[in-house]
Amino acid sequence: MKERIHYTKPSITELEVRYATDAAANGWGEKCYEYINRFEEAFKAHLGVKYAIATSSCTGALHMGMAALGIGRGDEVIMADSNWIATASPIVHLGAKPIFVDILPDSWCLDPELVEQAITPHTKAIVAVHLYGNLCEMDKLLAIGEKYGIPVIEDAAEAIGSIYHGKRAGSMGKFGAFSFHGTKTLTTGEGGIFVTNDPELYEHVLTLSNHGRARGQTKQFWPDMVGFKYKMSNIQAAIGCAQMERIGELICRKREIFLYYRNQLATFLGISINPEPTGIVNGAWMPTVVFDEYTNITREDLQIAFAKENIDARVFFHALSNLPMFEKQKSTLISSSIPKRSINLPSYHDLTRADQDRVMAVIKSLISH
Ligand SMILES: *Cc1c(COP(=O)(O)O)cnc(C)c1O
Repeated sequence: MKERIHYTKPSITELEVRYATDAAANGWGEKCYEYINRFEEAFKAHLGVKYAIATSSCTGALHMGMAALGIGRGDEVIMADSNWIATASPIVHLGAKPIFVDILPDSWCLDPELVEQAITPHTKAIVAVHLYGNLCEMDKLLAIGEKYGIPVIEDAAEAIGSIYHGKRAGSMGKFGAFSFHGTKTLTTGEGGIFVTNDPELYEHVLTLSNHGRARGQTKQFWPDMVGFKYKMSNIQAAIGCAQMERIGELICRKREIFLYYRNQLATFLGISINPEPTGIVNGAWMPTVVFDEYTNITREDLQIAFAKENIDARVFFHALSNLPMFEKQKSTLISSSIPKRSINLPSYHDLTRADQDRVMAVIKSLISH
């Protein structure tokens, strides 16, 4: 049996180990927030935003941000049907309803026209998820948000390194959220971050993130509201600081892997990979191939072919409207169709050229049939 090719794993060097060891040995007492503060500063500088709060997950960052926007019972939040459930759960936990709209066939992200059609008097926010590093049409979404007075939230969990006409993903909306889960481009094991340029929203989320204790409160153990506990630990942040020193290299390697796949497939018909239209840089978190319907190549064909070669390939996210807890929602055409004929390709940083050639051989064997 050939050696297994995993689909993602983090890039951890001696630097991450050194910082984590230092945090574990010395990062207590007066120093208990040092790596956290450093990590937040580094992330703000990278993204070009004013405020950041490191969290235990992206889901937690979304939950607090949405709570601070006042999203609650009876409200609706519009998002794409093609997505990981993590974006929808905080909406549900707040008592609001996620409204799933279909995606565009090329970017696999929100269709702005359908977003506008889905707006009702109950709409409280639009969540732009930059799927697999591809970018939403932010100009159009922000214009719709402005027109109806509805905030646009960016779930940029998959979009570190993605740039939309000079602006980094996660820096354009009312707030942005990132994930540092072990499968993502930059990792802290588990972790996330809330980012915004809005000083009031920042203060509100900061208070929420500290169990409702406001920064200016002088009384000890005196919460001013019911908050949350979604903090990142100093040890996780230490790993994050090392990763931030390597952020350029981490993104660059992801893009190299993506571009190699893209070039290899360029001459084949009936297959597409993550797009990179003019003015856009794709952070390339997850190279994903989608076969045209006429090829009749299915997700199951792909899974079988990859399994035979001992390669770990993951399925495209199922449309949320097809999941049992959301079955009352209308299902959507493109979000339901694409997962049936697509697959995520392995893309971790240490993947070799030979590994990539093994992955491509599987794809090419299917196309030439
Ligand atoms: C990974 C991911 C999340 C969840 O991140 P966690 O840190 O695991 O909470 C949210 N949204 C999207 C689009 C993701 O890919």
